[in-house]
Amino acid sequence: MVQSTLKLRQPIVVVLGHVDHGKTTLLDKIRGTAIVKKEPGEMTQEVGASFVPSSVIEKLAEPLKNVIPVKLEIPGLLFIDTPGHELFSNLRKRGGSVADIAILVVDITEGIQKQTIESIQILKEKKVPFIVAANKIDKIPGWKPYENEPFTYSLKKQAAATQKSIDNYVYKLVLQLAELGFNSERFDRVRDFTKYVTIVPVSGKTGEGIPELLALLAGLTQHYMKTRLRVAEGPAKGVVLEVKEEQGLGHTIDVIIYDGILKRNDTILLGGINGVITTKVRNIFVPAPLQDMRIAKSGFRSIDEVVAAAGVKISAPGLEEALAGSPLYSVDSFEKIEEFKKSIEEEMSQVRFSKNIS
Ligand code: GDP
Repeated sequence: MVQSTLKLRQPIVVVLGHVDHGKTTLLDKIRGTAIVKKEPGEMTQEVGASFVPSSVIEKLAEPLKNVIPVKLEIPGLLFIDTPGHELFSNLRKRGGSVADIAILVVDITEGIQKQTIESIQILKEKKVPFIVAANKIDKIPGWKPYENEPFTYSLKKQAAATQKSIDNYVYKLVLQLAELGFNSERFDRVRDFTKYVTIVPVSGKTGEGIPELLALLAGLTQHYMKTRLRVAEGPAKGVVLEVKEEQGLGHTIDVIIYDGILKRNDTILLGGINGVITTKVRNIFVPAPLQDMRIAKSGFRSIDEVVAAAGVKISAPGLEEALAGSPLYSVDSFEKIEEFKKSIEEEMSQVRFSKNIS
């Protein structure tokens, strides 16, 4: 019916895990890999997030056809650039999170640590499914690196003892996750992805395993989250990641739009220090491509509209009081204003409440 003709948007992916387990390195590697494999017309610029198009994921996953068959309907994956649970807490939305799926990064040689457990608790509370990236496989004694290869290929080329060693480390992780109440298994042995947490051995340093990680993130979200990923063609819904004063632009907000379409001059509602802010979008910005930097002195380029999911910067009057973590709605009718106002007030009061008790 009408619903099924609506397009699927890119799933929003966050990266969490214990300090030093390699979140930043892994994200950098994913971004780097994507840039190398992108064709010119595939670039889309984002604020606070990085887009990896499906064509890139399909190219990377090509050698894995028999392990992870991927025929992608989603346009790609949108990675939130800042890892860790501080930022994740700003991605809240009513009844859950704006994040569709998470990568839980665990140093395979160290296993689950304090902040890994904290991350799992947060993901559980917000009902965000996750894939475990068992990172730093290149540190396993005897491991011979094969830059950017799928884990499946690299593994076959390792000595028998090293293959056994990887299995032992993964098994330790499986036991630790079982203690926390999760069934888990290495990705190539998972029979039912709804019942098992998937573990993907990777190295953020050598890029090994990234093809599988991307293919699984894309394949699983597309398969299990179709309804959630259908974009409404109506007004935008988003969440404020950061409030920033930018030279020449005044106060701006960095926003992740997760549903609908936002246009210049739209009326938007969002949470502010002294209550709900109602204002009009003056400009929507994305980072300027390198060659345009001289024209766009601020480093940003203005666009007329943006379709979910995307990271954009918005300038509008009255944003100096905006609050990071607040929901943002664009409204196309007068009646909706009161409804959304109430909804934002409710959500913001819960945030303050939770801050007070922590
Ligand atoms: P974060 O705190 O989780 O963001 O961790 P970082 O990405 O900053 O990484 C912490 C340290 O681990 C840095 O010195 C990285 O170079 C190193 N590191 C990250 N990933 C890998 C990996 O896959 N292999 C190896 N050998 N080192 C890594």
